[in-house]
Amino acid sequence: MLLEEERKSIVQFGRALLTAGLTTGTGGNLSIYNRAEGLVAIKPSGVAYFEMTPEDVVVIDLGGHIVDGKLQPSSETQFHLGLYRFRANINAVVHTHQVYATTMACLNWEIPAVHYLVGLSGNKVPLAAYATYGSRELSENLLQAIGNYNACLLANHGLVTVGANIAAAFAVAEEIELVSRLYYQAKCIGSPVILSDEEMEKVIHKFQASSTL
Ligand SMILES: [Zn+2]
Repeated sequence: MLLEEERKSIVQFGRALLTAGLTTGTGGNLSIYNRAEGLVAIKPSGVAYFEMTPEDVVVIDLGGHIVDGKLQPSSETQFHLGLYRFRANINAVVHTHQVYATTMACLNWEIPAVHYLVGLSGNKVPLAAYATYGSRELSENLLQAIGNYNACLLANHGLVTVGANIAAAFAVAEEIELVSRLYYQAKCIGSPVILSDEEMEKVIHKFQASSTL
């Protein structure tokens, strides 16, 4: 089977998105880019995570053409491919509607450095302007906003995280959910203290040195 390992990982981490509470139903999507092969394994559209098999995972090229698979690729294929073309250090993309991060996205807020784990994204989590799901405009807004960050909110929609591999992209999504919840809770009872850019630079260097990033 073409991209067998990647397809198995899509099934494994897709299920983990549900069990970690980062998405519901068939929502969200994820993909892995095999740069050597020039091929992407991506979640099929509208398939429940616990019913999805490796064969269901769609293999496409960077132009979005189906190379292997019987199902249609995710409705957000456009921004997955856009990210792989945009940055050479991105080999996996995770997109969720995780509740606390999406709460920030619905307020059209960025997430500041309220906790050092924001460093998994950078010195903040930026926000991409709203556009209809699945549209080219959404992909363009995301690429414009994400820059060198590893996470980006989609206004009134959700979160996108990226990484050198699927485990890294998944971990960013999970930790940004924690951070979003902390920010929400801290805002409920007071004024959260935001870490300085200088401190966040130190944190990011430590993450890089320990291969957390
Ligand atoms: Zn979505």
